[in-house]
Amino acid sequence: MILGIIEHDRGQLNNQSLEMLTLARQVAADEGVGVTAVLIGTISAQLADNLAAYGVSHAIVASHDGLDEYAPEAWAAAIGQIAQANGPKAIMATGSDRGNELMAHVAAQLNLAMAANVTQVTVGDSYQLTRVRWGGSLFEEAKLHGDIKLLTVAPLVQQVSEAPSSGVAVETFTPELDDKLFRVRVTSREEPEADKISLAEARLVVGGGRGVGSADGFALLDELAGLLEGAVGGSRVVTNLGWRPHADQIGQTGTRIAPDLYIACGISGAIQHWVGCKGAKKILAINTDPEAPMMTKADYAVIGDLHEVLPALIAELQK
Ligand SMILES: Cc1cc2nc3c(=O)[nH]c(=O)nc-3n(C[C@H](O)[C@H](O)[C@H](O)COP(=O)(O)OP(=O)(O)OC[C@H]3O[C@@H](n4cnc5c(N)ncnc54)[C@H](O)[C@@H]3O)c2cc1C
Repeated sequence: MILGIIEHDRGQLNNQSLEMLTLARQVAADEGVGVTAVLIGTISAQLADNLAAYGVSHAIVASHDGLDEYAPEAWAAAIGQIAQANGPKAIMATGSDRGNELMAHVAAQLNLAMAANVTQVTVGDSYQLTRVRWGGSLFEEAKLHGDIKLLTVAPLVQQVSEAPSSGVAVETFTPELDDKLFRVRVTSREEPEADKISLAEARLVVGGGRGVGSADGFALLDELAGLLEGAVGGSRVVTNLGWRPHADQIGQTGTRIAPDLYIACGISGAIQHWVGCKGAKKILAINTDPEAPMMTKADYAVIGDLHEVLPALIAELQK
């Protein structure tokens, strides 16, 4: 079997899990085995049923009081125990921050190799892989060895496809988990504002960098985004300086965006920022430096001080 770790948030299925299942089905078919979904924590019967549309006929639910909130070492131990009980050919998860962290723990605990952010797999004694490296700026050909192949699937690469099964047989697995496996765990949550448009899904994003000058300077960007029904994000400089929360960071170590239009204000366009915004259909850069990388790569560029350009733009839109 191929174990596919399903990422869900308190029962809400994550779309990246469906991308992972699409590639897992191909790997399973090439291996001549089936895909078994692994779900961690309390789940609804509906969630397991929903997986039937994506080729899953068997699901294992790891059930334990401590597993409802994310705890990487404990979750990894549960997956390791499920693997030891079932002998899968491979374990696949999403290439999200969480999926990659979790599988790194599984790899460490089982003493196996793991490949992150895979886009293609050719099965064999070792797996021949293509995977995304350097924040999406290059593809690498790699070989993955090991009795059980551990890999995560690069987000936003697989086209999700359905392959209905006749239903999902759900099996409950109770792992044995030592208290020390819960040293790192989620203890509380801060919910985003309900009406806030998420950066990852926004059709329009206004981004600010060091050129914005201060946390207060973002009022202009918030106003522009409000007029255009978009979201506001920023560079890492901005989140490091505490002008915006980390959740607003765009880039390699932040959120990848793919809006119709990205308005980048006072952002130089360093490679680590670029990999997070290059999915935008059009980019408008506003910068005092015509040689800034963001200006040379953008579809449209305004050479000027954003503190003058943005009020003029806002005034025009308000008309
Ligand atoms: C491992 C690693 C991961 C990283 N991950 C990320 C990441 O996820 N996201 C990210 O953004 N960065 C990331 N970085 C940091 C990245 O390398 C850059 O340092 C950062 O993106 C620069 O931010 P910036 O463009 O705001 O600042 P700067 O590079 O300082 O650029 C400021 C720009 O503002 C312009 N400007 C100044 N004043 C004005 C004005 N009044 N009007 C208009 N323009 C003005 C300047 O001409 C300049 O181009 C990472 C770095 C490393 C090493």
